[in-house]
Amino acid sequence: MDCVYQCPGLAIFGYNLKKDWLFLPIEYEVNEGEEVFLVDNNGNILGEGVIVKILRKSNKTNIARVQAMTISGDNLVAVRGFILKLDYPDPIEFKKAGEVASETYVCHCDDVKLNEILDVIGDRKFISVDEIKHTTRLGMGACRGKRCIPRLKQTIRSHGISVVGEPTPRGPLSNQIAMGDLYPKEVHENIHVSADGSKPLKEKVTALVAGGGIGGSALFFYLAEAGKAPVLLNYGRGASWRNIAGGRPNFSVPELSDIAVHNLEIFKELQKIKNIDFHPIHYVTFAHDEPMFKALEASMAWSDARMIEPKDFRIEISPHINPKLDTYIAALITKNCWQATPGKVIDLIRRIGIEKGGRILEDCMLANVRKEGSKYFILVQDHEKKYIEFETEIFINALGPEGDKFAKQLNIETGIYPVKHQAFITRRLPMLGREKIPLPMIIDRRRYKGFTAVYGQQLAETGQIIGCASPAVEPPETGSNLKVNSKDFIEIASEVFVNWIPELSSVGFQAVWAGYYVEPRMVIDPELGLFIGLRGQGYMLGQYLAKMYVDKLTGKEVPAYFGRLSMKGDGMPEKAFK
Ligand SMILES: Cc1cc2nc3c(=O)[nH]c(=O)nc-3n(C[C@H](O)[C@H](O)[C@H](O)COP(=O)(O)OP(=O)(O)OC[C@H]3O[C@@H](n4cnc5c(N)ncnc54)[C@H](O)[C@@H]3O)c2cc1C
Repeated sequence: MDCVYQCPGLAIFGYNLKKDWLFLPIEYEVNEGEEVFLVDNNGNILGEGVIVKILRKSNKTNIARVQAMTISGDNLVAVRGFILKLDYPDPIEFKKAGEVASETYVCHCDDVKLNEILDVIGDRKFISVDEIKHTTRLGMGACRGKRCIPRLKQTIRSHGISVVGEPTPRGPLSNQIAMGDLYPKEVHENIHVSADGSKPLKEKVTALVAGGGIGGSALFFYLAEAGKAPVLLNYGRGASWRNIAGGRPNFSVPELSDIAVHNLEIFKELQKIKNIDFHPIHYVTFAHDEPMFKALEASMAWSDARMIEPKDFRIEISPHINPKLDTYIAALITKNCWQATPGKVIDLIRRIGIEKGGRILEDCMLANVRKEGSKYFILVQDHEKKYIEFETEIFINALGPEGDKFAKQLNIETGIYPVKHQAFITRRLPMLGREKIPLPMIIDRRRYKGFTAVYGQQLAETGQIIGCASPAVEPPETGSNLKVNSKDFIEIASEVFVNWIPELSSVGFQAVWAGYYVEPRMVIDPELGLFIGLRGQGYMLGQYLAKMYVDKLTGKEVPAYFGRLSMKGDGMPEKAFK
């Protein structure tokens, strides 16, 4: 009988047909002498019996010797088990249940509901994976879109909507990379608009904005508000979709502080219209030496801020701050800062722009721009790979890192260039700030191990810590590949954050990525149609800059400092608190 109790699947049975005995494996407690029904694999009763003996075994699969009472001989071999007579269930009665209202969840990592996604999509017939990610967080959880994006594609097909693109599921430090990414070749494109020589479609519009990041989307919004029925063209996702969602008014250039303060008001107004995850926060900038202390102290003249001493770090910043932290001599806490989800902000201002008469061409790529007299001719490849040539008197280049390439087509040398900045996000954490609020944006501005700043905050919506580091030497990071995250970045982020809050040492990176800061200066010039170079401050400044741009374009008054942002101006460079 050894094989009966040794089979891990309880699938071997013993029979003594002469004595009408059955030897059946059993892994729960029954008593000798109990009456049983002998059953087949489906629980159907084949006969009755009594448990005569339990043979106890060391592996906890015991053998019950059962004496059959009502069946015998060859009929016994159909028996596969027994059920105590007392426990034999009544027949199941199926009743029709009433309607149960329930939500369909597409994402099981971040609990994203189908209705939320449909709400974002609105009456669009297609949407890109990136937009879905940045507006609903679908695909941003632990599975990185491996499961939910295919599920979404299938689910919303029945709503007549298609999802463009694929998720880029990647864990820390492992990105898919093509050989050409590591060994780039300058390959110049020849644009053939059709195989048969036919001409592209032509359309005249009042205003066209190229690039739908925070800059282009805000221009779209204000142009629509000014009755210019703008067309917004966007292809791909730039820094606006990759930034770490923070805004602050403390700059060493007071005019930039003024722009930030106006921008804060715009964010507050947007939150009243629709949830953009707006939350007021503090920025905490550590002073690691005397010059930084002085620069921070000077900024107090134009921002609502106060300096604290190291002994107060645990009270004022977070009770989790390392009590042995001795890297800094003070910290400046700045009020009137904020966070908001970038994707939601962009989506909202675009929606309002549409309501006010604008039109968005998403997944449509600017291919070429030329100017004849006062008219721009803009060649665009649309979502279906067809070409359209737009004619307009108002063209605005808000193409972020691609801005210089298209400015050159109009013989404008902007001198801007993209610099790679890397970022990370952790898993969800409890709120780590004082009184259990989210950790503020904490900034270390030391020049240290190849970086000039390491900073990050906790997102109030999810509890995740999102952080970033700025490279100390820009040239090697200029135009550098965004698909690769460096070991140096992971190391410095870990070192600085764990030094601040030792408990973080057990927290993993949920994702790492990179985006471009467009340096070295802002070029916001209505005469030249340029809205580029937003550096590391575009999210917190972009909307008010766009408002001033459209005001200037439509003959309204703008602050005197606005002229400094034109190509002829100095660009209002922020040096101390970049
Ligand atoms: C990691 C990181 C963290 C950051 N954190 C912050 C922060 O906390 N606060 C803050 O204020 N700023 C932050 N920034 C900076 C901020 O994100 C940028 O300054 C801002 O997003 C720039 O906006 P933009 O509209 O000028 O450019 P982009 O967002 O780059 O927009 C340009 C758009 O043009 C599109 N495009 C490009 N080529 C074409 C083409 N040929 N046809 C059609 N469309 C095209 C792009 O896909 C993109 O959507 C951060 C940046 C990074 C990279």
